[in-house]
Amino acid sequence: MPQSRLIKPLLDQEYPMISHGKGIYLYDQNGKRYIDGSSGAVTASIGHGVDEIIEAMNEQAKKVAFVYRSQFTSEPAEQLADTLCRLSDGHLPWTFFVNSGTEATETAMKMAIQHWQEQGRGTKTKILSRWMSYHGITVGALSMSGHPLRRMRFVPLLEEYPSISPPYCYRCPHKSSYPSCQLACASELERVIKRIGAQYIAAFIAEPIVGAAGGALTPPDGYYEKIQEICEKHDVLFIMDEVMTGNGRTGTHFGYQHWNVKPDIVTLGKGLSAGYSPIAATLASQKVIDPILSGTKVVMSGHTFSGNPLSAAVSMAVLSYLERHKLVDQVEEKGKRLKQKLKRLQGETSMIGDIRGKGLLIGVELVQNTLTKQPFERHLNVMSRLVEKAQRNGLLIYPAAAGEDGIDGDAVILSPPFIISDDEMDELFNLFSLSIKELE
Ligand code: PLP
Repeated sequence: MPQSRLIKPLLDQEYPMISHGKGIYLYDQNGKRYIDGSSGAVTASIGHGVDEIIEAMNEQAKKVAFVYRSQFTSEPAEQLADTLCRLSDGHLPWTFFVNSGTEATETAMKMAIQHWQEQGRGTKTKILSRWMSYHGITVGALSMSGHPLRRMRFVPLLEEYPSISPPYCYRCPHKSSYPSCQLACASELERVIKRIGAQYIAAFIAEPIVGAAGGALTPPDGYYEKIQEICEKHDVLFIMDEVMTGNGRTGTHFGYQHWNVKPDIVTLGKGLSAGYSPIAATLASQKVIDPILSGTKVVMSGHTFSGNPLSAAVSMAVLSYLERHKLVDQVEEKGKRLKQKLKRLQGETSMIGDIRGKGLLIGVELVQNTLTKQPFERHLNVMSRLVEKAQRNGLLIYPAAAGEDGIDGDAVILSPPFIISDDEMDELFNLFSLSIKELE
């Protein structure tokens, strides 16, 4: 019998064996302790081993773990949809539960196309998106994703390419600067809509703050207001992919709440259960659902595990925990404190080009020359080496793409759990600083 082998991200690399987690710390089986400085993949927002969540999980599992969505609804799923509606101030009353951020994107795309079909506007099928973006790994979601590394090998399967530049002020795609740019990167959307023809376009999808494909790219003020205005003018639905930014990560329940906008469809994942059980969601406004409600009455999607009571109960417990401990209210302040420390570090080192993001979603772009912003040579693998060094030092950080093409630069994301204390934040920062200085 050949030896069984688990396929891990790098096939020939040894990974530490996890033992357990508590708070912001993870422990491997050799007893080494790691600060979860990225909440895994920006997910474990309330930290590890929280008793209340485990109790809620147990309690629900004892009642019933799974029912099929076409046969039953459940109290946890209904309560969760209710809570999400309330957190959106009633703007997003409709919730469709899925199991991953990727599925939430796929559902959002289908909902948008169906919204127009039900009104007899069946040619509106294209979904526009930006370069330097990530919306998921399956074919539809990857088609929308402007992440060259993840899509390149599968181009023959992909239906679409992103067509809009990202709002990347550090390396403005229009070689301009804010505010004299007059938000040229947002105006691009209108140009593309006119060139293709609004009669073929169902929606535009964007992450409020770009995660893995940009290292917390944060648009300038007015950007999303302009995007929304363009979408409304051309009958194009506006989808916000909040898989990474949702559930308090940036200091508001939804990332879009930083601006004066109301997207038509919003996706959630990651922080929705803070990693305690797989669950994600696609939320929609009344306007999106109305034509479906007076038409076929069926949102044409669904997965076996959609809205299973166990994951819904876990997610409900996580949202209650966030509210009870007022954790989202603390995110902005904690993020500011970490950013201030990083700014000081920027002055002491030669390789931090840009620090960006909101709340506890902070991107650090690494460059060879801070004056010219020249990225490091690719073969140096600076980002991967920093991630490795930090892990050796007992700090977990999240790698992200950066650079003019989203493939020729290095960035990392710092996104610790919201429960992090001041002392723990100092410890995180000291390990990050040490790792950067070791790399110089
Ligand atoms: N959308 C965004 C913004 C993400 O960051 C991710 C994952 O990193 C996804 C979608 C895909 O989510 P999942 O990995 O849960 O499928």
